[in-house]
Amino acid sequence: MAESHVVVVGASLAGLQAAVTLRAEGFAEAVTVVGEEPHRPYDRPPLSKQVIAGDWDADRVALPAGAGASLDVTWELGTGAAGLDLAGRRVLLADGRALTFDGLVIATGAHPRPLPGVGALEGVHTLRTLEDALAVRAALDGGARRVVVVGAGFIGAEVAASCRQRGAEVTLVEPLPQPLARVLPEQVGAVLAEVHRSHGVDVRLGVGVEAIEGLGRVQGVRLADGTTVAADLVVVGIGVVPATGWLEGSGLTLDDGVVCDETTLAAPGVVAAGDVARWPNARYGEVMRVEHWEHAIDMGTHAARRLLADLAGEPGEPFAPVPWFWSDQYDRKVQLAGRPRPTDRFEVVAGSLAEARFCGLFGRDGQVVAALGMNMPGRVVRYRRELQDGLSWDDALAGAAPAVPPTS
Ligand code: FAD
Ligand code: NAP
Repeated sequence: MAESHVVVVGASLAGLQAAVTLRAEGFAEAVTVVGEEPHRPYDRPPLSKQVIAGDWDADRVALPAGAGASLDVTWELGTGAAGLDLAGRRVLLADGRALTFDGLVIATGAHPRPLPGVGALEGVHTLRTLEDALAVRAALDGGARRVVVVGAGFIGAEVAASCRQRGAEVTLVEPLPQPLARVLPEQVGAVLAEVHRSHGVDVRLGVGVEAIEGLGRVQGVRLADGTTVAADLVVVGIGVVPATGWLEGSGLTLDDGVVCDETTLAAPGVVAAGDVARWPNARYGEVMRVEHWEHAIDMGTHAARRLLADLAGEPGEPFAPVPWFWSDQYDRKVQLAGRPRPTDRFEVVAGSLAEARFCGLFGRDGQVVAALGMNMPGRVVRYRRELQDGLSWDDALAGAAPAVPPTS
């Protein structure tokens, strides 16, 4: 009988974790990992932080599980998947070859959203890959002093901090009234904005970008309020688009990502994980796509197990995590456990916004749905554990003060 074959498309965090899990769960047959980038899997969080700041060299970002020979998989790197023949069980590669599969893991992540109406100009960058980060770093090494960062989301905030660490003049431009205003309450966004201002960033909120100016090379960024900010280097961080182009017409449901069932199954024998995957998270009664590091690992693990169950004709477990992320900006560590909405009640339960060191809870329908901390890791980690089991608002507030020592 022919050996069965699992193909993983996307050689990064979620794909690597799926491959590692297949082996850890005892799958001994063929596994091929297909990656568009020429590299073995590497870690993206250091790109906006240590790599741009100049603290780490490129070789430090490799993800250990994918770096050596110990993971017994075939790597197909430097050529992307261009199509999926679902009925024929084949992944079509950009170089014209096809890989037949019994099981497929889709882990193609996301691509940066381009700034509308902006053509190619030297000195204008997005940030997703190692090459992107090295290009930004090279620009700073080469003397770029005036940096404009477009978008005060995660990329924007972290790149602004890293460029300030390098001594550059930084202007951060965001059309929303506060940084991360779609994720965090206004008063928390205001704290983040103040953290940047106190580190010398010129934070321009509530104003969009009209045009990027320059002849061949960037010279400035014209804002919607009519002002122009001079720039040697522009980094655009205005969100991402799930990398599903290769799946168009395949028969899979695509809707801002690959749509899966609550167990991460997108079709028989096909699972998806990480930034590219959208699924109903029963814990929140919400169909979601999560674009963070730990989620890619958790979903990659779950999806690989789900695939093995499917190949064995067994049912799968729902995937219902409490989402989690962190962001490092200057000496501040922001951590969020859960899934807040802008309409949630928000209350600070330890520290204070004024000292930019706090822990706050988000409440909805009598339950705590998320916990947010700035430089209070002990608290957030504790709430993260409690959120797994469900935490009522009243219990949380009653226990808020004495549960952990005041220093954590
Ligand atoms: P990706 O890492 O995007 O990997 C997808 C891979 O698939 C890529 O290598 C891509 O080239 C490849 N691919 C795409 N299309 C194809 C195709 N057709 N064929 C073959 N291969 C394909 N999260 C946090 O929680 N904390 C942080 O501090 C943090 N910092 C970050 C900093 C940066 C600069 C970036 C970009 C992200 C950061 N994140 C952070 C988010 C986190 O890195 C992502 O959520 C995570 O990388 C998602 O993993 P993934 O495997 O789903 O997708
Ligand atoms: P993001 O966090 O989604 O933030 C994008 C920001 O840019 C939003 O505030 C967005 O506002 C704004 N924006 C949108 N269109 C704009 C425009 N035309 N001009 C100016 N601003 C505009 O995305 P990101 O910062 O680009 O990050 C990319 C990905 O990397 C995300 O998946 C993110 O989660 C991940 N990442 C995560 C971390 C972390 O977890 N620490 C760190 C870095 C990167 P609107 O909401 O109005 O669109």
